[in-house]
Amino acid sequence: MPLSPDQIAEIDAARATPRQTLRAVSEGMEAHLYRAHEVLDHGFIRVIDYMGDDAAIVQAARVSYGAGTKHVSNDEGLIRYLMRHWHSTPFEMCEIKLHVKLPVFVARQWIRHRTANVNEYSARYSILDREFYIPAPDQLAAQSTVNNQGRGAVLEGAEAARVLEILKRDAGQAFDSYEQMLSQDGQQGLARELARMNLPMNTYTQWYWKTDLHNLFHFLRLRADAHAQYEIRVFAEAIAACVKDWVPLAFAAFEDYRMGGVTLSAKAVEVLKRRLAGEVVGQAESGMSKGEWREFEGVWG
Ligand SMILES: Cc1cc2nc3c(=O)[nH]c(=O)nc-3n(C[C@H](O)[C@H](O)[C@H](O)COP(=O)(O)OP(=O)(O)OC[C@H]3O[C@@H](n4cnc5c(N)ncnc54)[C@H](O)[C@@H]3O)c2cc1C
Repeated sequence: MPLSPDQIAEIDAARATPRQTLRAVSEGMEAHLYRAHEVLDHGFIRVIDYMGDDAAIVQAARVSYGAGTKHVSNDEGLIRYLMRHWHSTPFEMCEIKLHVKLPVFVARQWIRHRTANVNEYSARYSILDREFYIPAPDQLAAQSTVNNQGRGAVLEGAEAARVLEILKRDAGQAFDSYEQMLSQDGQQGLARELARMNLPMNTYTQWYWKTDLHNLFHFLRLRADAHAQYEIRVFAEAIAACVKDWVPLAFAAFEDYRMGGVTLSAKAVEVLKRRLAGEVVGQAESGMSKGEWREFEGVWG
C-alpha cells in the first residue's frame, strides 16, 4: 500500500484546515499540496511545502537588473531570457519540499543529487514494512544489446514468470529472516540496525527531500530523460507534473530550452554551417568521433 492509514488521515486533516496567508500562493500547486501521487507499485511523491511562484523568479531578476529589465516587457519573456542565458539564481528563489517513498536502489541513484536536503526514514529506529518493488510485466526486460546501461526487449513466457517468481520469493524470504532476527520471542532479538542488512535493494524507503527550483530542473533534466532508468524516471515525471502546475512559465521555458533543446559543440556548429551552405559533410570530414557523430545524426539526420 503506498500510503498508511495514518498518512491518509494526516493528509485529509491538513487539507481540511486551510489558513489565510499573505505569502505568494500558486493555485496550481495548492491543488497538489499534501496529496500523494502514486509511483511504481508501492511508492509515491507528495508535495509537503513550497515557496515562491513564477512571480518570485521575476521579482528576484528585477532586483538584479533593475531598470535594465524594462526592455523585456512581460514575465514570460523575462523567464525565458533567464533560462536561455543560464541566469539561474532567480530560479533558486523557489523551493519545494517533497515526501517520497521509493525503492532503495532508486534512492541510491537519487541521492547522487547533492544539492538538496534529505531526511530519511531510520531503519535503525523503526521496523521496515514488508513492501518490495516488483516490476510490472512490461518493465521486466532483457539486457540491452546496444546500451550497456539499459534494458532491451521485454522478457516473455516461462522466463518472465520465473524471474518474477525469483524476485518475489527472494524478497519474501529475506523479510521472513529479518522478522526472525528481530523477534524477541524466546530470544534477545537482533538490533534493527543490524537485522536490516540482509534486505534486498527493492525494499522501500521514505524521505523528505527539499531543493530549489534551479537544482530541481537539473534533477529533472537528468532523471526525466529517456536515458535515465525507468524506475527513477517515473518519479521524476510525477514531480515534473506538479512543477508544471506550480510555476507554469518557468516550466515551459525549461521544457523548451532544456528538455527539448540540444547543446551543440563548436564542431557540430561548423558541420551545420557547411551543410546549410550546400556541402556534403560526413563523419570523416566532421572532426567528430563515431560516437559523437551518431548522436549528432540522431538529432539532425
Ligand atoms: C543516465 C545517468 C547515468 C549515470 N551513471 C552513473 C554511473 O555509472 N556511476 C556513477 O557514479 N554515477 C552515475 N550517474 C550519476 C551522475 O554522475 C551524477 O552524480 C548525478 O546525475 C548527479 O548530478 P550532479 O552531480 O550534476 O547533481 P548535484 O549533486 O545536484 O550537483 C549539481 C551541480 O552542482 C555542482 N556540484 C555539486 N557538488 C559539487 C562538488 N562537490 N564539486 C563540484 N561541483 C559540485 C556541479 O556543477 C553539479 O552539476 C549517472 C547519472 C545519469 C543521469
